[in-house]
Amino acid sequence: MSMVIRNGVVVTSLRVIERGYILIRNGVIAEVGKEPFSGYAEEVIDAEGMLIVPGFIDTHTHGIGGLDFTANRDPESVLKMAKSYARHGITAFLASTVAAPLEVLEEACRAVREAIDMWRGEGAKILGVHLEGPYTNPEMAGAQNKAWIRKPDLEEFKRLVESCRGVVKQVTIAPELPGADKLITYARSRGIIVSAGHTNASYEEGLKAVKLGVTKANHLFNGMTRFHHREPGIALALLQSPNVYLEIIADFIHLHPAVVKMVIDYATPKRVVLVTDSIAATDMSDGIYELGGLKVIVEKGVCRLADTGVLAGSTLTMDEAFKNIASLGYSLQEAAIMTSLAPAKSLGIERLGDIEVGYSADIAILDKDFRVVKTIVSGEIVYEK
Ligand SMILES: [Zn+2]
Repeated sequence: MSMVIRNGVVVTSLRVIERGYILIRNGVIAEVGKEPFSGYAEEVIDAEGMLIVPGFIDTHTHGIGGLDFTANRDPESVLKMAKSYARHGITAFLASTVAAPLEVLEEACRAVREAIDMWRGEGAKILGVHLEGPYTNPEMAGAQNKAWIRKPDLEEFKRLVESCRGVVKQVTIAPELPGADKLITYARSRGIIVSAGHTNASYEEGLKAVKLGVTKANHLFNGMTRFHHREPGIALALLQSPNVYLEIIADFIHLHPAVVKMVIDYATPKRVVLVTDSIAATDMSDGIYELGGLKVIVEKGVCRLADTGVLAGSTLTMDEAFKNIASLGYSLQEAAIMTSLAPAKSLGIERLGDIEVGYSADIAILDKDFRVVKTIVSGEIVYEK
């Protein structure tokens, strides 16, 4: 099976090709070049001068379209969400859970595992599960339900990970908690990415966590010790550690645009992973929703817990995140690194998240206003406007 996408502005992490083309064979990018394309392909897509970018990869999303991974624990719901993500140019994602009873988390993992096994090109690819908690700091719960936040317990965590047959790819832990060290070491030994989040660790504790194996910041600055010039906290430790990827919720609500800019300029786009932290209310109208058993009020797309007013995820989508970052003056290449390549690399996945020979043919075609026109996953069209 071969396909050529022609006559578009091809954006990769290294270059922009005006009037470029991409040849795809068996779901993999076989050739990237400048028109005229003189080869043969069974299927031809004319991009009509639009942008051809690497498909977006969201490594932190809880739900979309009225569904979420913690509440809707069946493979059909997961596949439905995969379809909804594709409408926003997302070609791969990690299903994120929130703090919940252990058996609920186990069921959520099982549903994602089954959905991965059932997946036949319905929308975005499912990369696995991101457990956001339950081993986080209750003082920094944010919108996580304190009733289900737990103390780090290695045996319990092992059972959870093992019962889910390798589907857990990332876990968010507060590294300052007693027993967190062992969890981090164990997770790393199983190839699970450890992200520091919902934490009030100090700068020093942050550096220690990085030494132990933390390689990611869970939505940097949100749910973290506040930066102070005499007590910089874990956020600065993560920012200053060159091997740590930094999640940023680029809705300009969770962080001031100037802070987003500061992070990108300091860490460079290669370390910045744009995420949505989106919840079930995404793609839905304003109203009352639920997250981890807590009531969430969504007003003008902004999600807050009903009783405390704390931000509770977002209704951001990755195409909007791309647009927001571009509006700060970053190039299309830089935006593509932060929405695709850095997310893939933050999970240790190779040949994903870029438009280069040998990479999975996961692509989004965007119009001049960055609206998604087509989404292609492994060389198959999964969404068309
Ligand atoms: Zn989250």
